Amino acid sequence: MSSPIIDNLKSEIGGYKREARAQKIGKVTEVGDGIARLSGLSDVSMQEMVEFETASGKVSGVAFNLEEDSVGVIVLGDYKKIKEGDIVTHAGRVLSVPVGDELIGRVVDPLGNPLDGKGPIFKAGAKEFYPTEKVAPSVIARSPVNTPIHTGIKAIDSMIPIGRGQRELIIGDRQVGKTSIAIDTIINQKNDTRYQTPICIYVAIGQKESKIAKIIATLEAAGAMKYTIVVSAPSSSPTSMRYLAPYSATAIGEYFMDKGKDALVIYDDLSKQAIAYREISLLLRRPPSREAYPGDIFYLHSRLLERSAKLSKENGGGSLTSLPIIETQLGDVAAYIPTNVISITDGQIYLESELFNQGMRPAVNAGLSVSRVGSAAQTKAMKKVAGKLRLELAQYRELAAFSQFASELDESTQKTLARGKVLTECLKQDELVPIPFEKQAVLIYAATNGYLDKVPAEKIVDAGIAVIDYLEKMHKEKIFEAIKKSGEMSDDTLKILKAGLEDWVKMQNK
Ligand code: ATP
Ligand code: MG
Repeated sequence: MSSPIIDNLKSEIGGYKREARAQKIGKVTEVGDGIARLSGLSDVSMQEMVEFETASGKVSGVAFNLEEDSVGVIVLGDYKKIKEGDIVTHAGRVLSVPVGDELIGRVVDPLGNPLDGKGPIFKAGAKEFYPTEKVAPSVIARSPVNTPIHTGIKAIDSMIPIGRGQRELIIGDRQVGKTSIAIDTIINQKNDTRYQTPICIYVAIGQKESKIAKIIATLEAAGAMKYTIVVSAPSSSPTSMRYLAPYSATAIGEYFMDKGKDALVIYDDLSKQAIAYREISLLLRRPPSREAYPGDIFYLHSRLLERSAKLSKENGGGSLTSLPIIETQLGDVAAYIPTNVISITDGQIYLESELFNQGMRPAVNAGLSVSRVGSAAQTKAMKKVAGKLRLELAQYRELAAFSQFASELDESTQKTLARGKVLTECLKQDELVPIPFEKQAVLIYAATNGYLDKVPAEKIVDAGIAVIDYLEKMHKEKIFEAIKKSGEMSDDTLKILKAGLEDWVKMQNK
C-alpha cells in the first residue's frame, strides 16, 4: 500500500539527519566542598579551564570528570561564591602555570600567584605558560643518568648516590628527618661548584604555614633562595591546590629542563597529595577501592614522576630530578601509597624512627635503602671509598645481630664489630651542615682505613670534623681542590692524604 502522503512522510523521515550541536555554556547544578557539577558545556575537554560567572566576580575551575550528562569541575578559587544556576564558560586553555626565570627566589601558590608579598612576579605579564599535565619525555629523548646530584649527606652520597634525572624516594614515619634531608640537599647545591647549580623547587603540600615559613627562612639564611622556588599549598589551602601543587611544580621544573638546565623538585609530601586526591574523588563520587583511594591512584603518582628525566644532548641535555617524600605509619612500607611510589621510583632512602631515637641521625637504614641508578652517578673518588664502606657496614650489621647473645667472640669478629661501630658513628651528621663530596670521600677513606679506630665512639663525629679541618689547613690544594677538580682520588693525592692522616694520628697520640 502506498499513497503520496505516506511516501512523502517516508522521504521526510529518511532525510532527517541527527546533528550534534556544541553548547558553549554550562550551568551549575550542584556546588560544595570545592567541587561543582555542571550541565551543558558538553564540548569541554579534560583538564580544560572554565570560568564561573558569579554574582561577585569570576572564579576559575578545571574540568575533571566528564560524564554523559554532566561535568565535574574542581573549583580553583573560593567555591562559596558560586551559586546553583551560575553560568559557566570556557576559559580557552588547559590548566597551566606561568613559567620563567623570574620565579627564582619566589614563593608561589600552585597557580603561580606570589605568596611572599614581594609584588608581581612577571612585570609585564608572563610570556610563557606550561601545562600542569604533560606527557613525559620518550625513551629516545632521554639519556642515561650519569651526573651526580650531591645531597651533602655522608650516608646518602656514599651509599645511596642520586643522579641528575633520577627519582629517589625519601620515606619514613613522622618526625624522622625527611624534610631535613631535602633542605640539606637544596643548601648543598651552592657548595657543589664542580657541577651546574640546579634550580631547586620545593613543593610544600598540606603542611602547616608556620612550618613552611620556617623552611623558607632557613633557605633564605643559607643563601639558597637565590636558586630556589617554593610552591606552597599549605594544609589551610583548598583541597584542589594540594592536589595540583606537584604538577605545577613539575611544569615549572620542565621549563628549566627544556632550557638545557638542571632542575631538582622535592615533593613534601605525596602522601598528603594522595589524601587530597582521595577527597576530590570521593566528592566526585568516583568508586573507592583499597583504603578508599580511587582506582587510578597509581596513575596519580606515576604520571607525575615519569616526567623526571635526563634529556639527551640533541634535546638540550637538561634534567629534572625528583625527590618525592612519603610518610609511613609505624614503618609500614607495605601500605598502599608507599608500595606504589616505591615501585615507581628508582630507589628509596628509608628512614627509621628507631634509629632516629637511638641518636643515629640522619636515621638512614642502609640495609633497606637503595639507589637503582647506583654508582653510575658517583664521582670516581667516591666510588673508590664507598665500596669498602658498604661492604664493611653490611658485614657489621650481620654480625651485630648474632653477637648480641655470644659471650666469646674471636678476634676477627671483634675487629669487624669495632670497625662497624666506627663507620656507623662516622656517618652521623647534624642537619644544616651538608658536606661537599671531596671532604666526604676523604673522611670515609680515613674511617675505612683505620685512621679513626683509636678514637672513642662518642668522639668520632668531632674527630671526623677535626681531621678534615687539619687536612684542609695543611693540604687544601693538593687534596681537596685536586679531588674536586678531577673528581678522582689519584695516586699522588692518595700519597699526600696518607701522609697527612698519619701525621694527624701521631698528633692525637701525643
Ligand atoms: P614530619 O613528619 O613532621 O614532616 P620529618 O620527617 O620531615 O617530619 P624533620 O622535620 O626533618 O622530619 O625533622 C624532625 C626533627 O628532627 C626536627 O626537629 C629536626 O630538627 C630534627 N632532625 C632532623 N635531622 C636531624 C639530624 N641529622 N640531626 C639532628 N636533628 C635532626
Ligand atoms: Mg617533613
